[in-house]
Amino acid sequence: MTKRIVILGAGESGVGAAVLAKSKGFDVFVSDFGEISPKYRMALNKYQLAFEEKQHTESLIFLADEVVKSPGIPDTSPLIVKLIERNIPVVSEIEFAGRFSNAKMICITGSNGKTTTTLLLYHMLKKAGLHVGLAGNVGDSLAWQVAEKDYTHYVVELSSFQLDGMYDFRANIAILLNITPDHLDRYDYKMENYINSKFRILQNMRSEDSFVFCTDDEIIKKELMNCDTLAQLLPFSVREEKEMCGWIENELLKIQYNENLFSMDKKDLSLPGIHNVYNSLASGIAGSVLQIRKEVIRESLSDFQGVDHRLEKVVRVRGIQFINDSKATNINSTWYALESMDEPVVWIVGGVDKGNDYGVLADLVKEKVKGIVCLGIDNSKIHAAFDGKVDVIVDAESMEEAVKQAYRIANKEEIVLLSPACASFDLFQNYEDRGNQFKEEVRNL
Ligand code: ADP
Repeated sequence: MTKRIVILGAGESGVGAAVLAKSKGFDVFVSDFGEISPKYRMALNKYQLAFEEKQHTESLIFLADEVVKSPGIPDTSPLIVKLIERNIPVVSEIEFAGRFSNAKMICITGSNGKTTTTLLLYHMLKKAGLHVGLAGNVGDSLAWQVAEKDYTHYVVELSSFQLDGMYDFRANIAILLNITPDHLDRYDYKMENYINSKFRILQNMRSEDSFVFCTDDEIIKKELMNCDTLAQLLPFSVREEKEMCGWIENELLKIQYNENLFSMDKKDLSLPGIHNVYNSLASGIAGSVLQIRKEVIRESLSDFQGVDHRLEKVVRVRGIQFINDSKATNINSTWYALESMDEPVVWIVGGVDKGNDYGVLADLVKEKVKGIVCLGIDNSKIHAAFDGKVDVIVDAESMEEAVKQAYRIANKEEIVLLSPACASFDLFQNYEDRGNQFKEEVRNL
């Protein structure tokens, strides 16, 4: 009998999985509890895929031999619990797509820096002339591309939610950037569960595969001691030089892979801040493993244009530089943003916090921040942490107000930085909406 694949969630990954499943001859049914967007409804019709929306009809779903679930649906949701009780396997789109592709999979995970590193590496591989696709959390669905393209390489951004639904998928090169507390609400508030999820990227790797990781991250270092993997270990650090595959020496970024030594001036990197030195080291190592020419690696690391909403320079107004880091939704990413500032900062912060400990930022705030604009419905934790520690601290209830307040506080040769350390959904649709409103208000000044 034809195997029945049920797909939960009709967004980019779900519809992609449906297109691939259909092309492989499976019986396919797509179910979305919400309303399907016109773009994806058109695609479902075009490929003649059976689907439902605004409901989950259990009698149709429980007929599945296997379920492909959108990473947005938690394992604890009642439907998933029932599927697991019925022993129906539930996998992620990446797991499903991986079965039908022989391309080299270069996979990036971590708590912060995934999108930047993924796009940087994609930029490098394209420049090197490889036939490469971009997939995972950014770009198009992996499954869709596997169905319709014949790429030889994929650069894949993997969130922990995607990794949770992966079992047999094999990464040829895996990059683990860092592990800091995030999304703990999906992991029973247990850090070890979140760490285990990130380390799933290593499962199935073989001796010819490469694991690129940051050894300055204590959690990664410790966890690696308890984990046996066949993959070749390629560590990078900005603190240590010995036994590293990538490191910093006298302001030079160096990568030693097999007999090849790559070196470039740190100041030639196009992206600012030490967090981007990490991202560049990781990308450079992956490029070296893929035997990309040194000139191409150097050029890619120095001409990559960066990603919107990540330390994105907007404009200078009357000598004040406005920077949009709306994607900083946790403390760690804001730490790196503040760390990389070299002029006094008026800092716009706030939103929905996922259990932030603002104390971690105290030293940086003391050193770099002259004023704070709190932008959120509930700003009490920010006040508790910083009242009396900066010259001015004010509240704003809209982006317009926040930008105007910040502009008033800042002087020439200073910076206004939006780096909220919080999710955005109290006042905005998402972080893109927040960043776009910021840019618009700045342009209106
Ligand atoms: P992700 O896809 O993991 O959320 P992004 O590349 O979108 O990561 O960046 C998210 C935020 O984290 C941005 O504010 C960015 O400036 C910051 N960031 C980027 N790389 C790193 C890193 N290696 N370590 C810590 N923070 C980072």
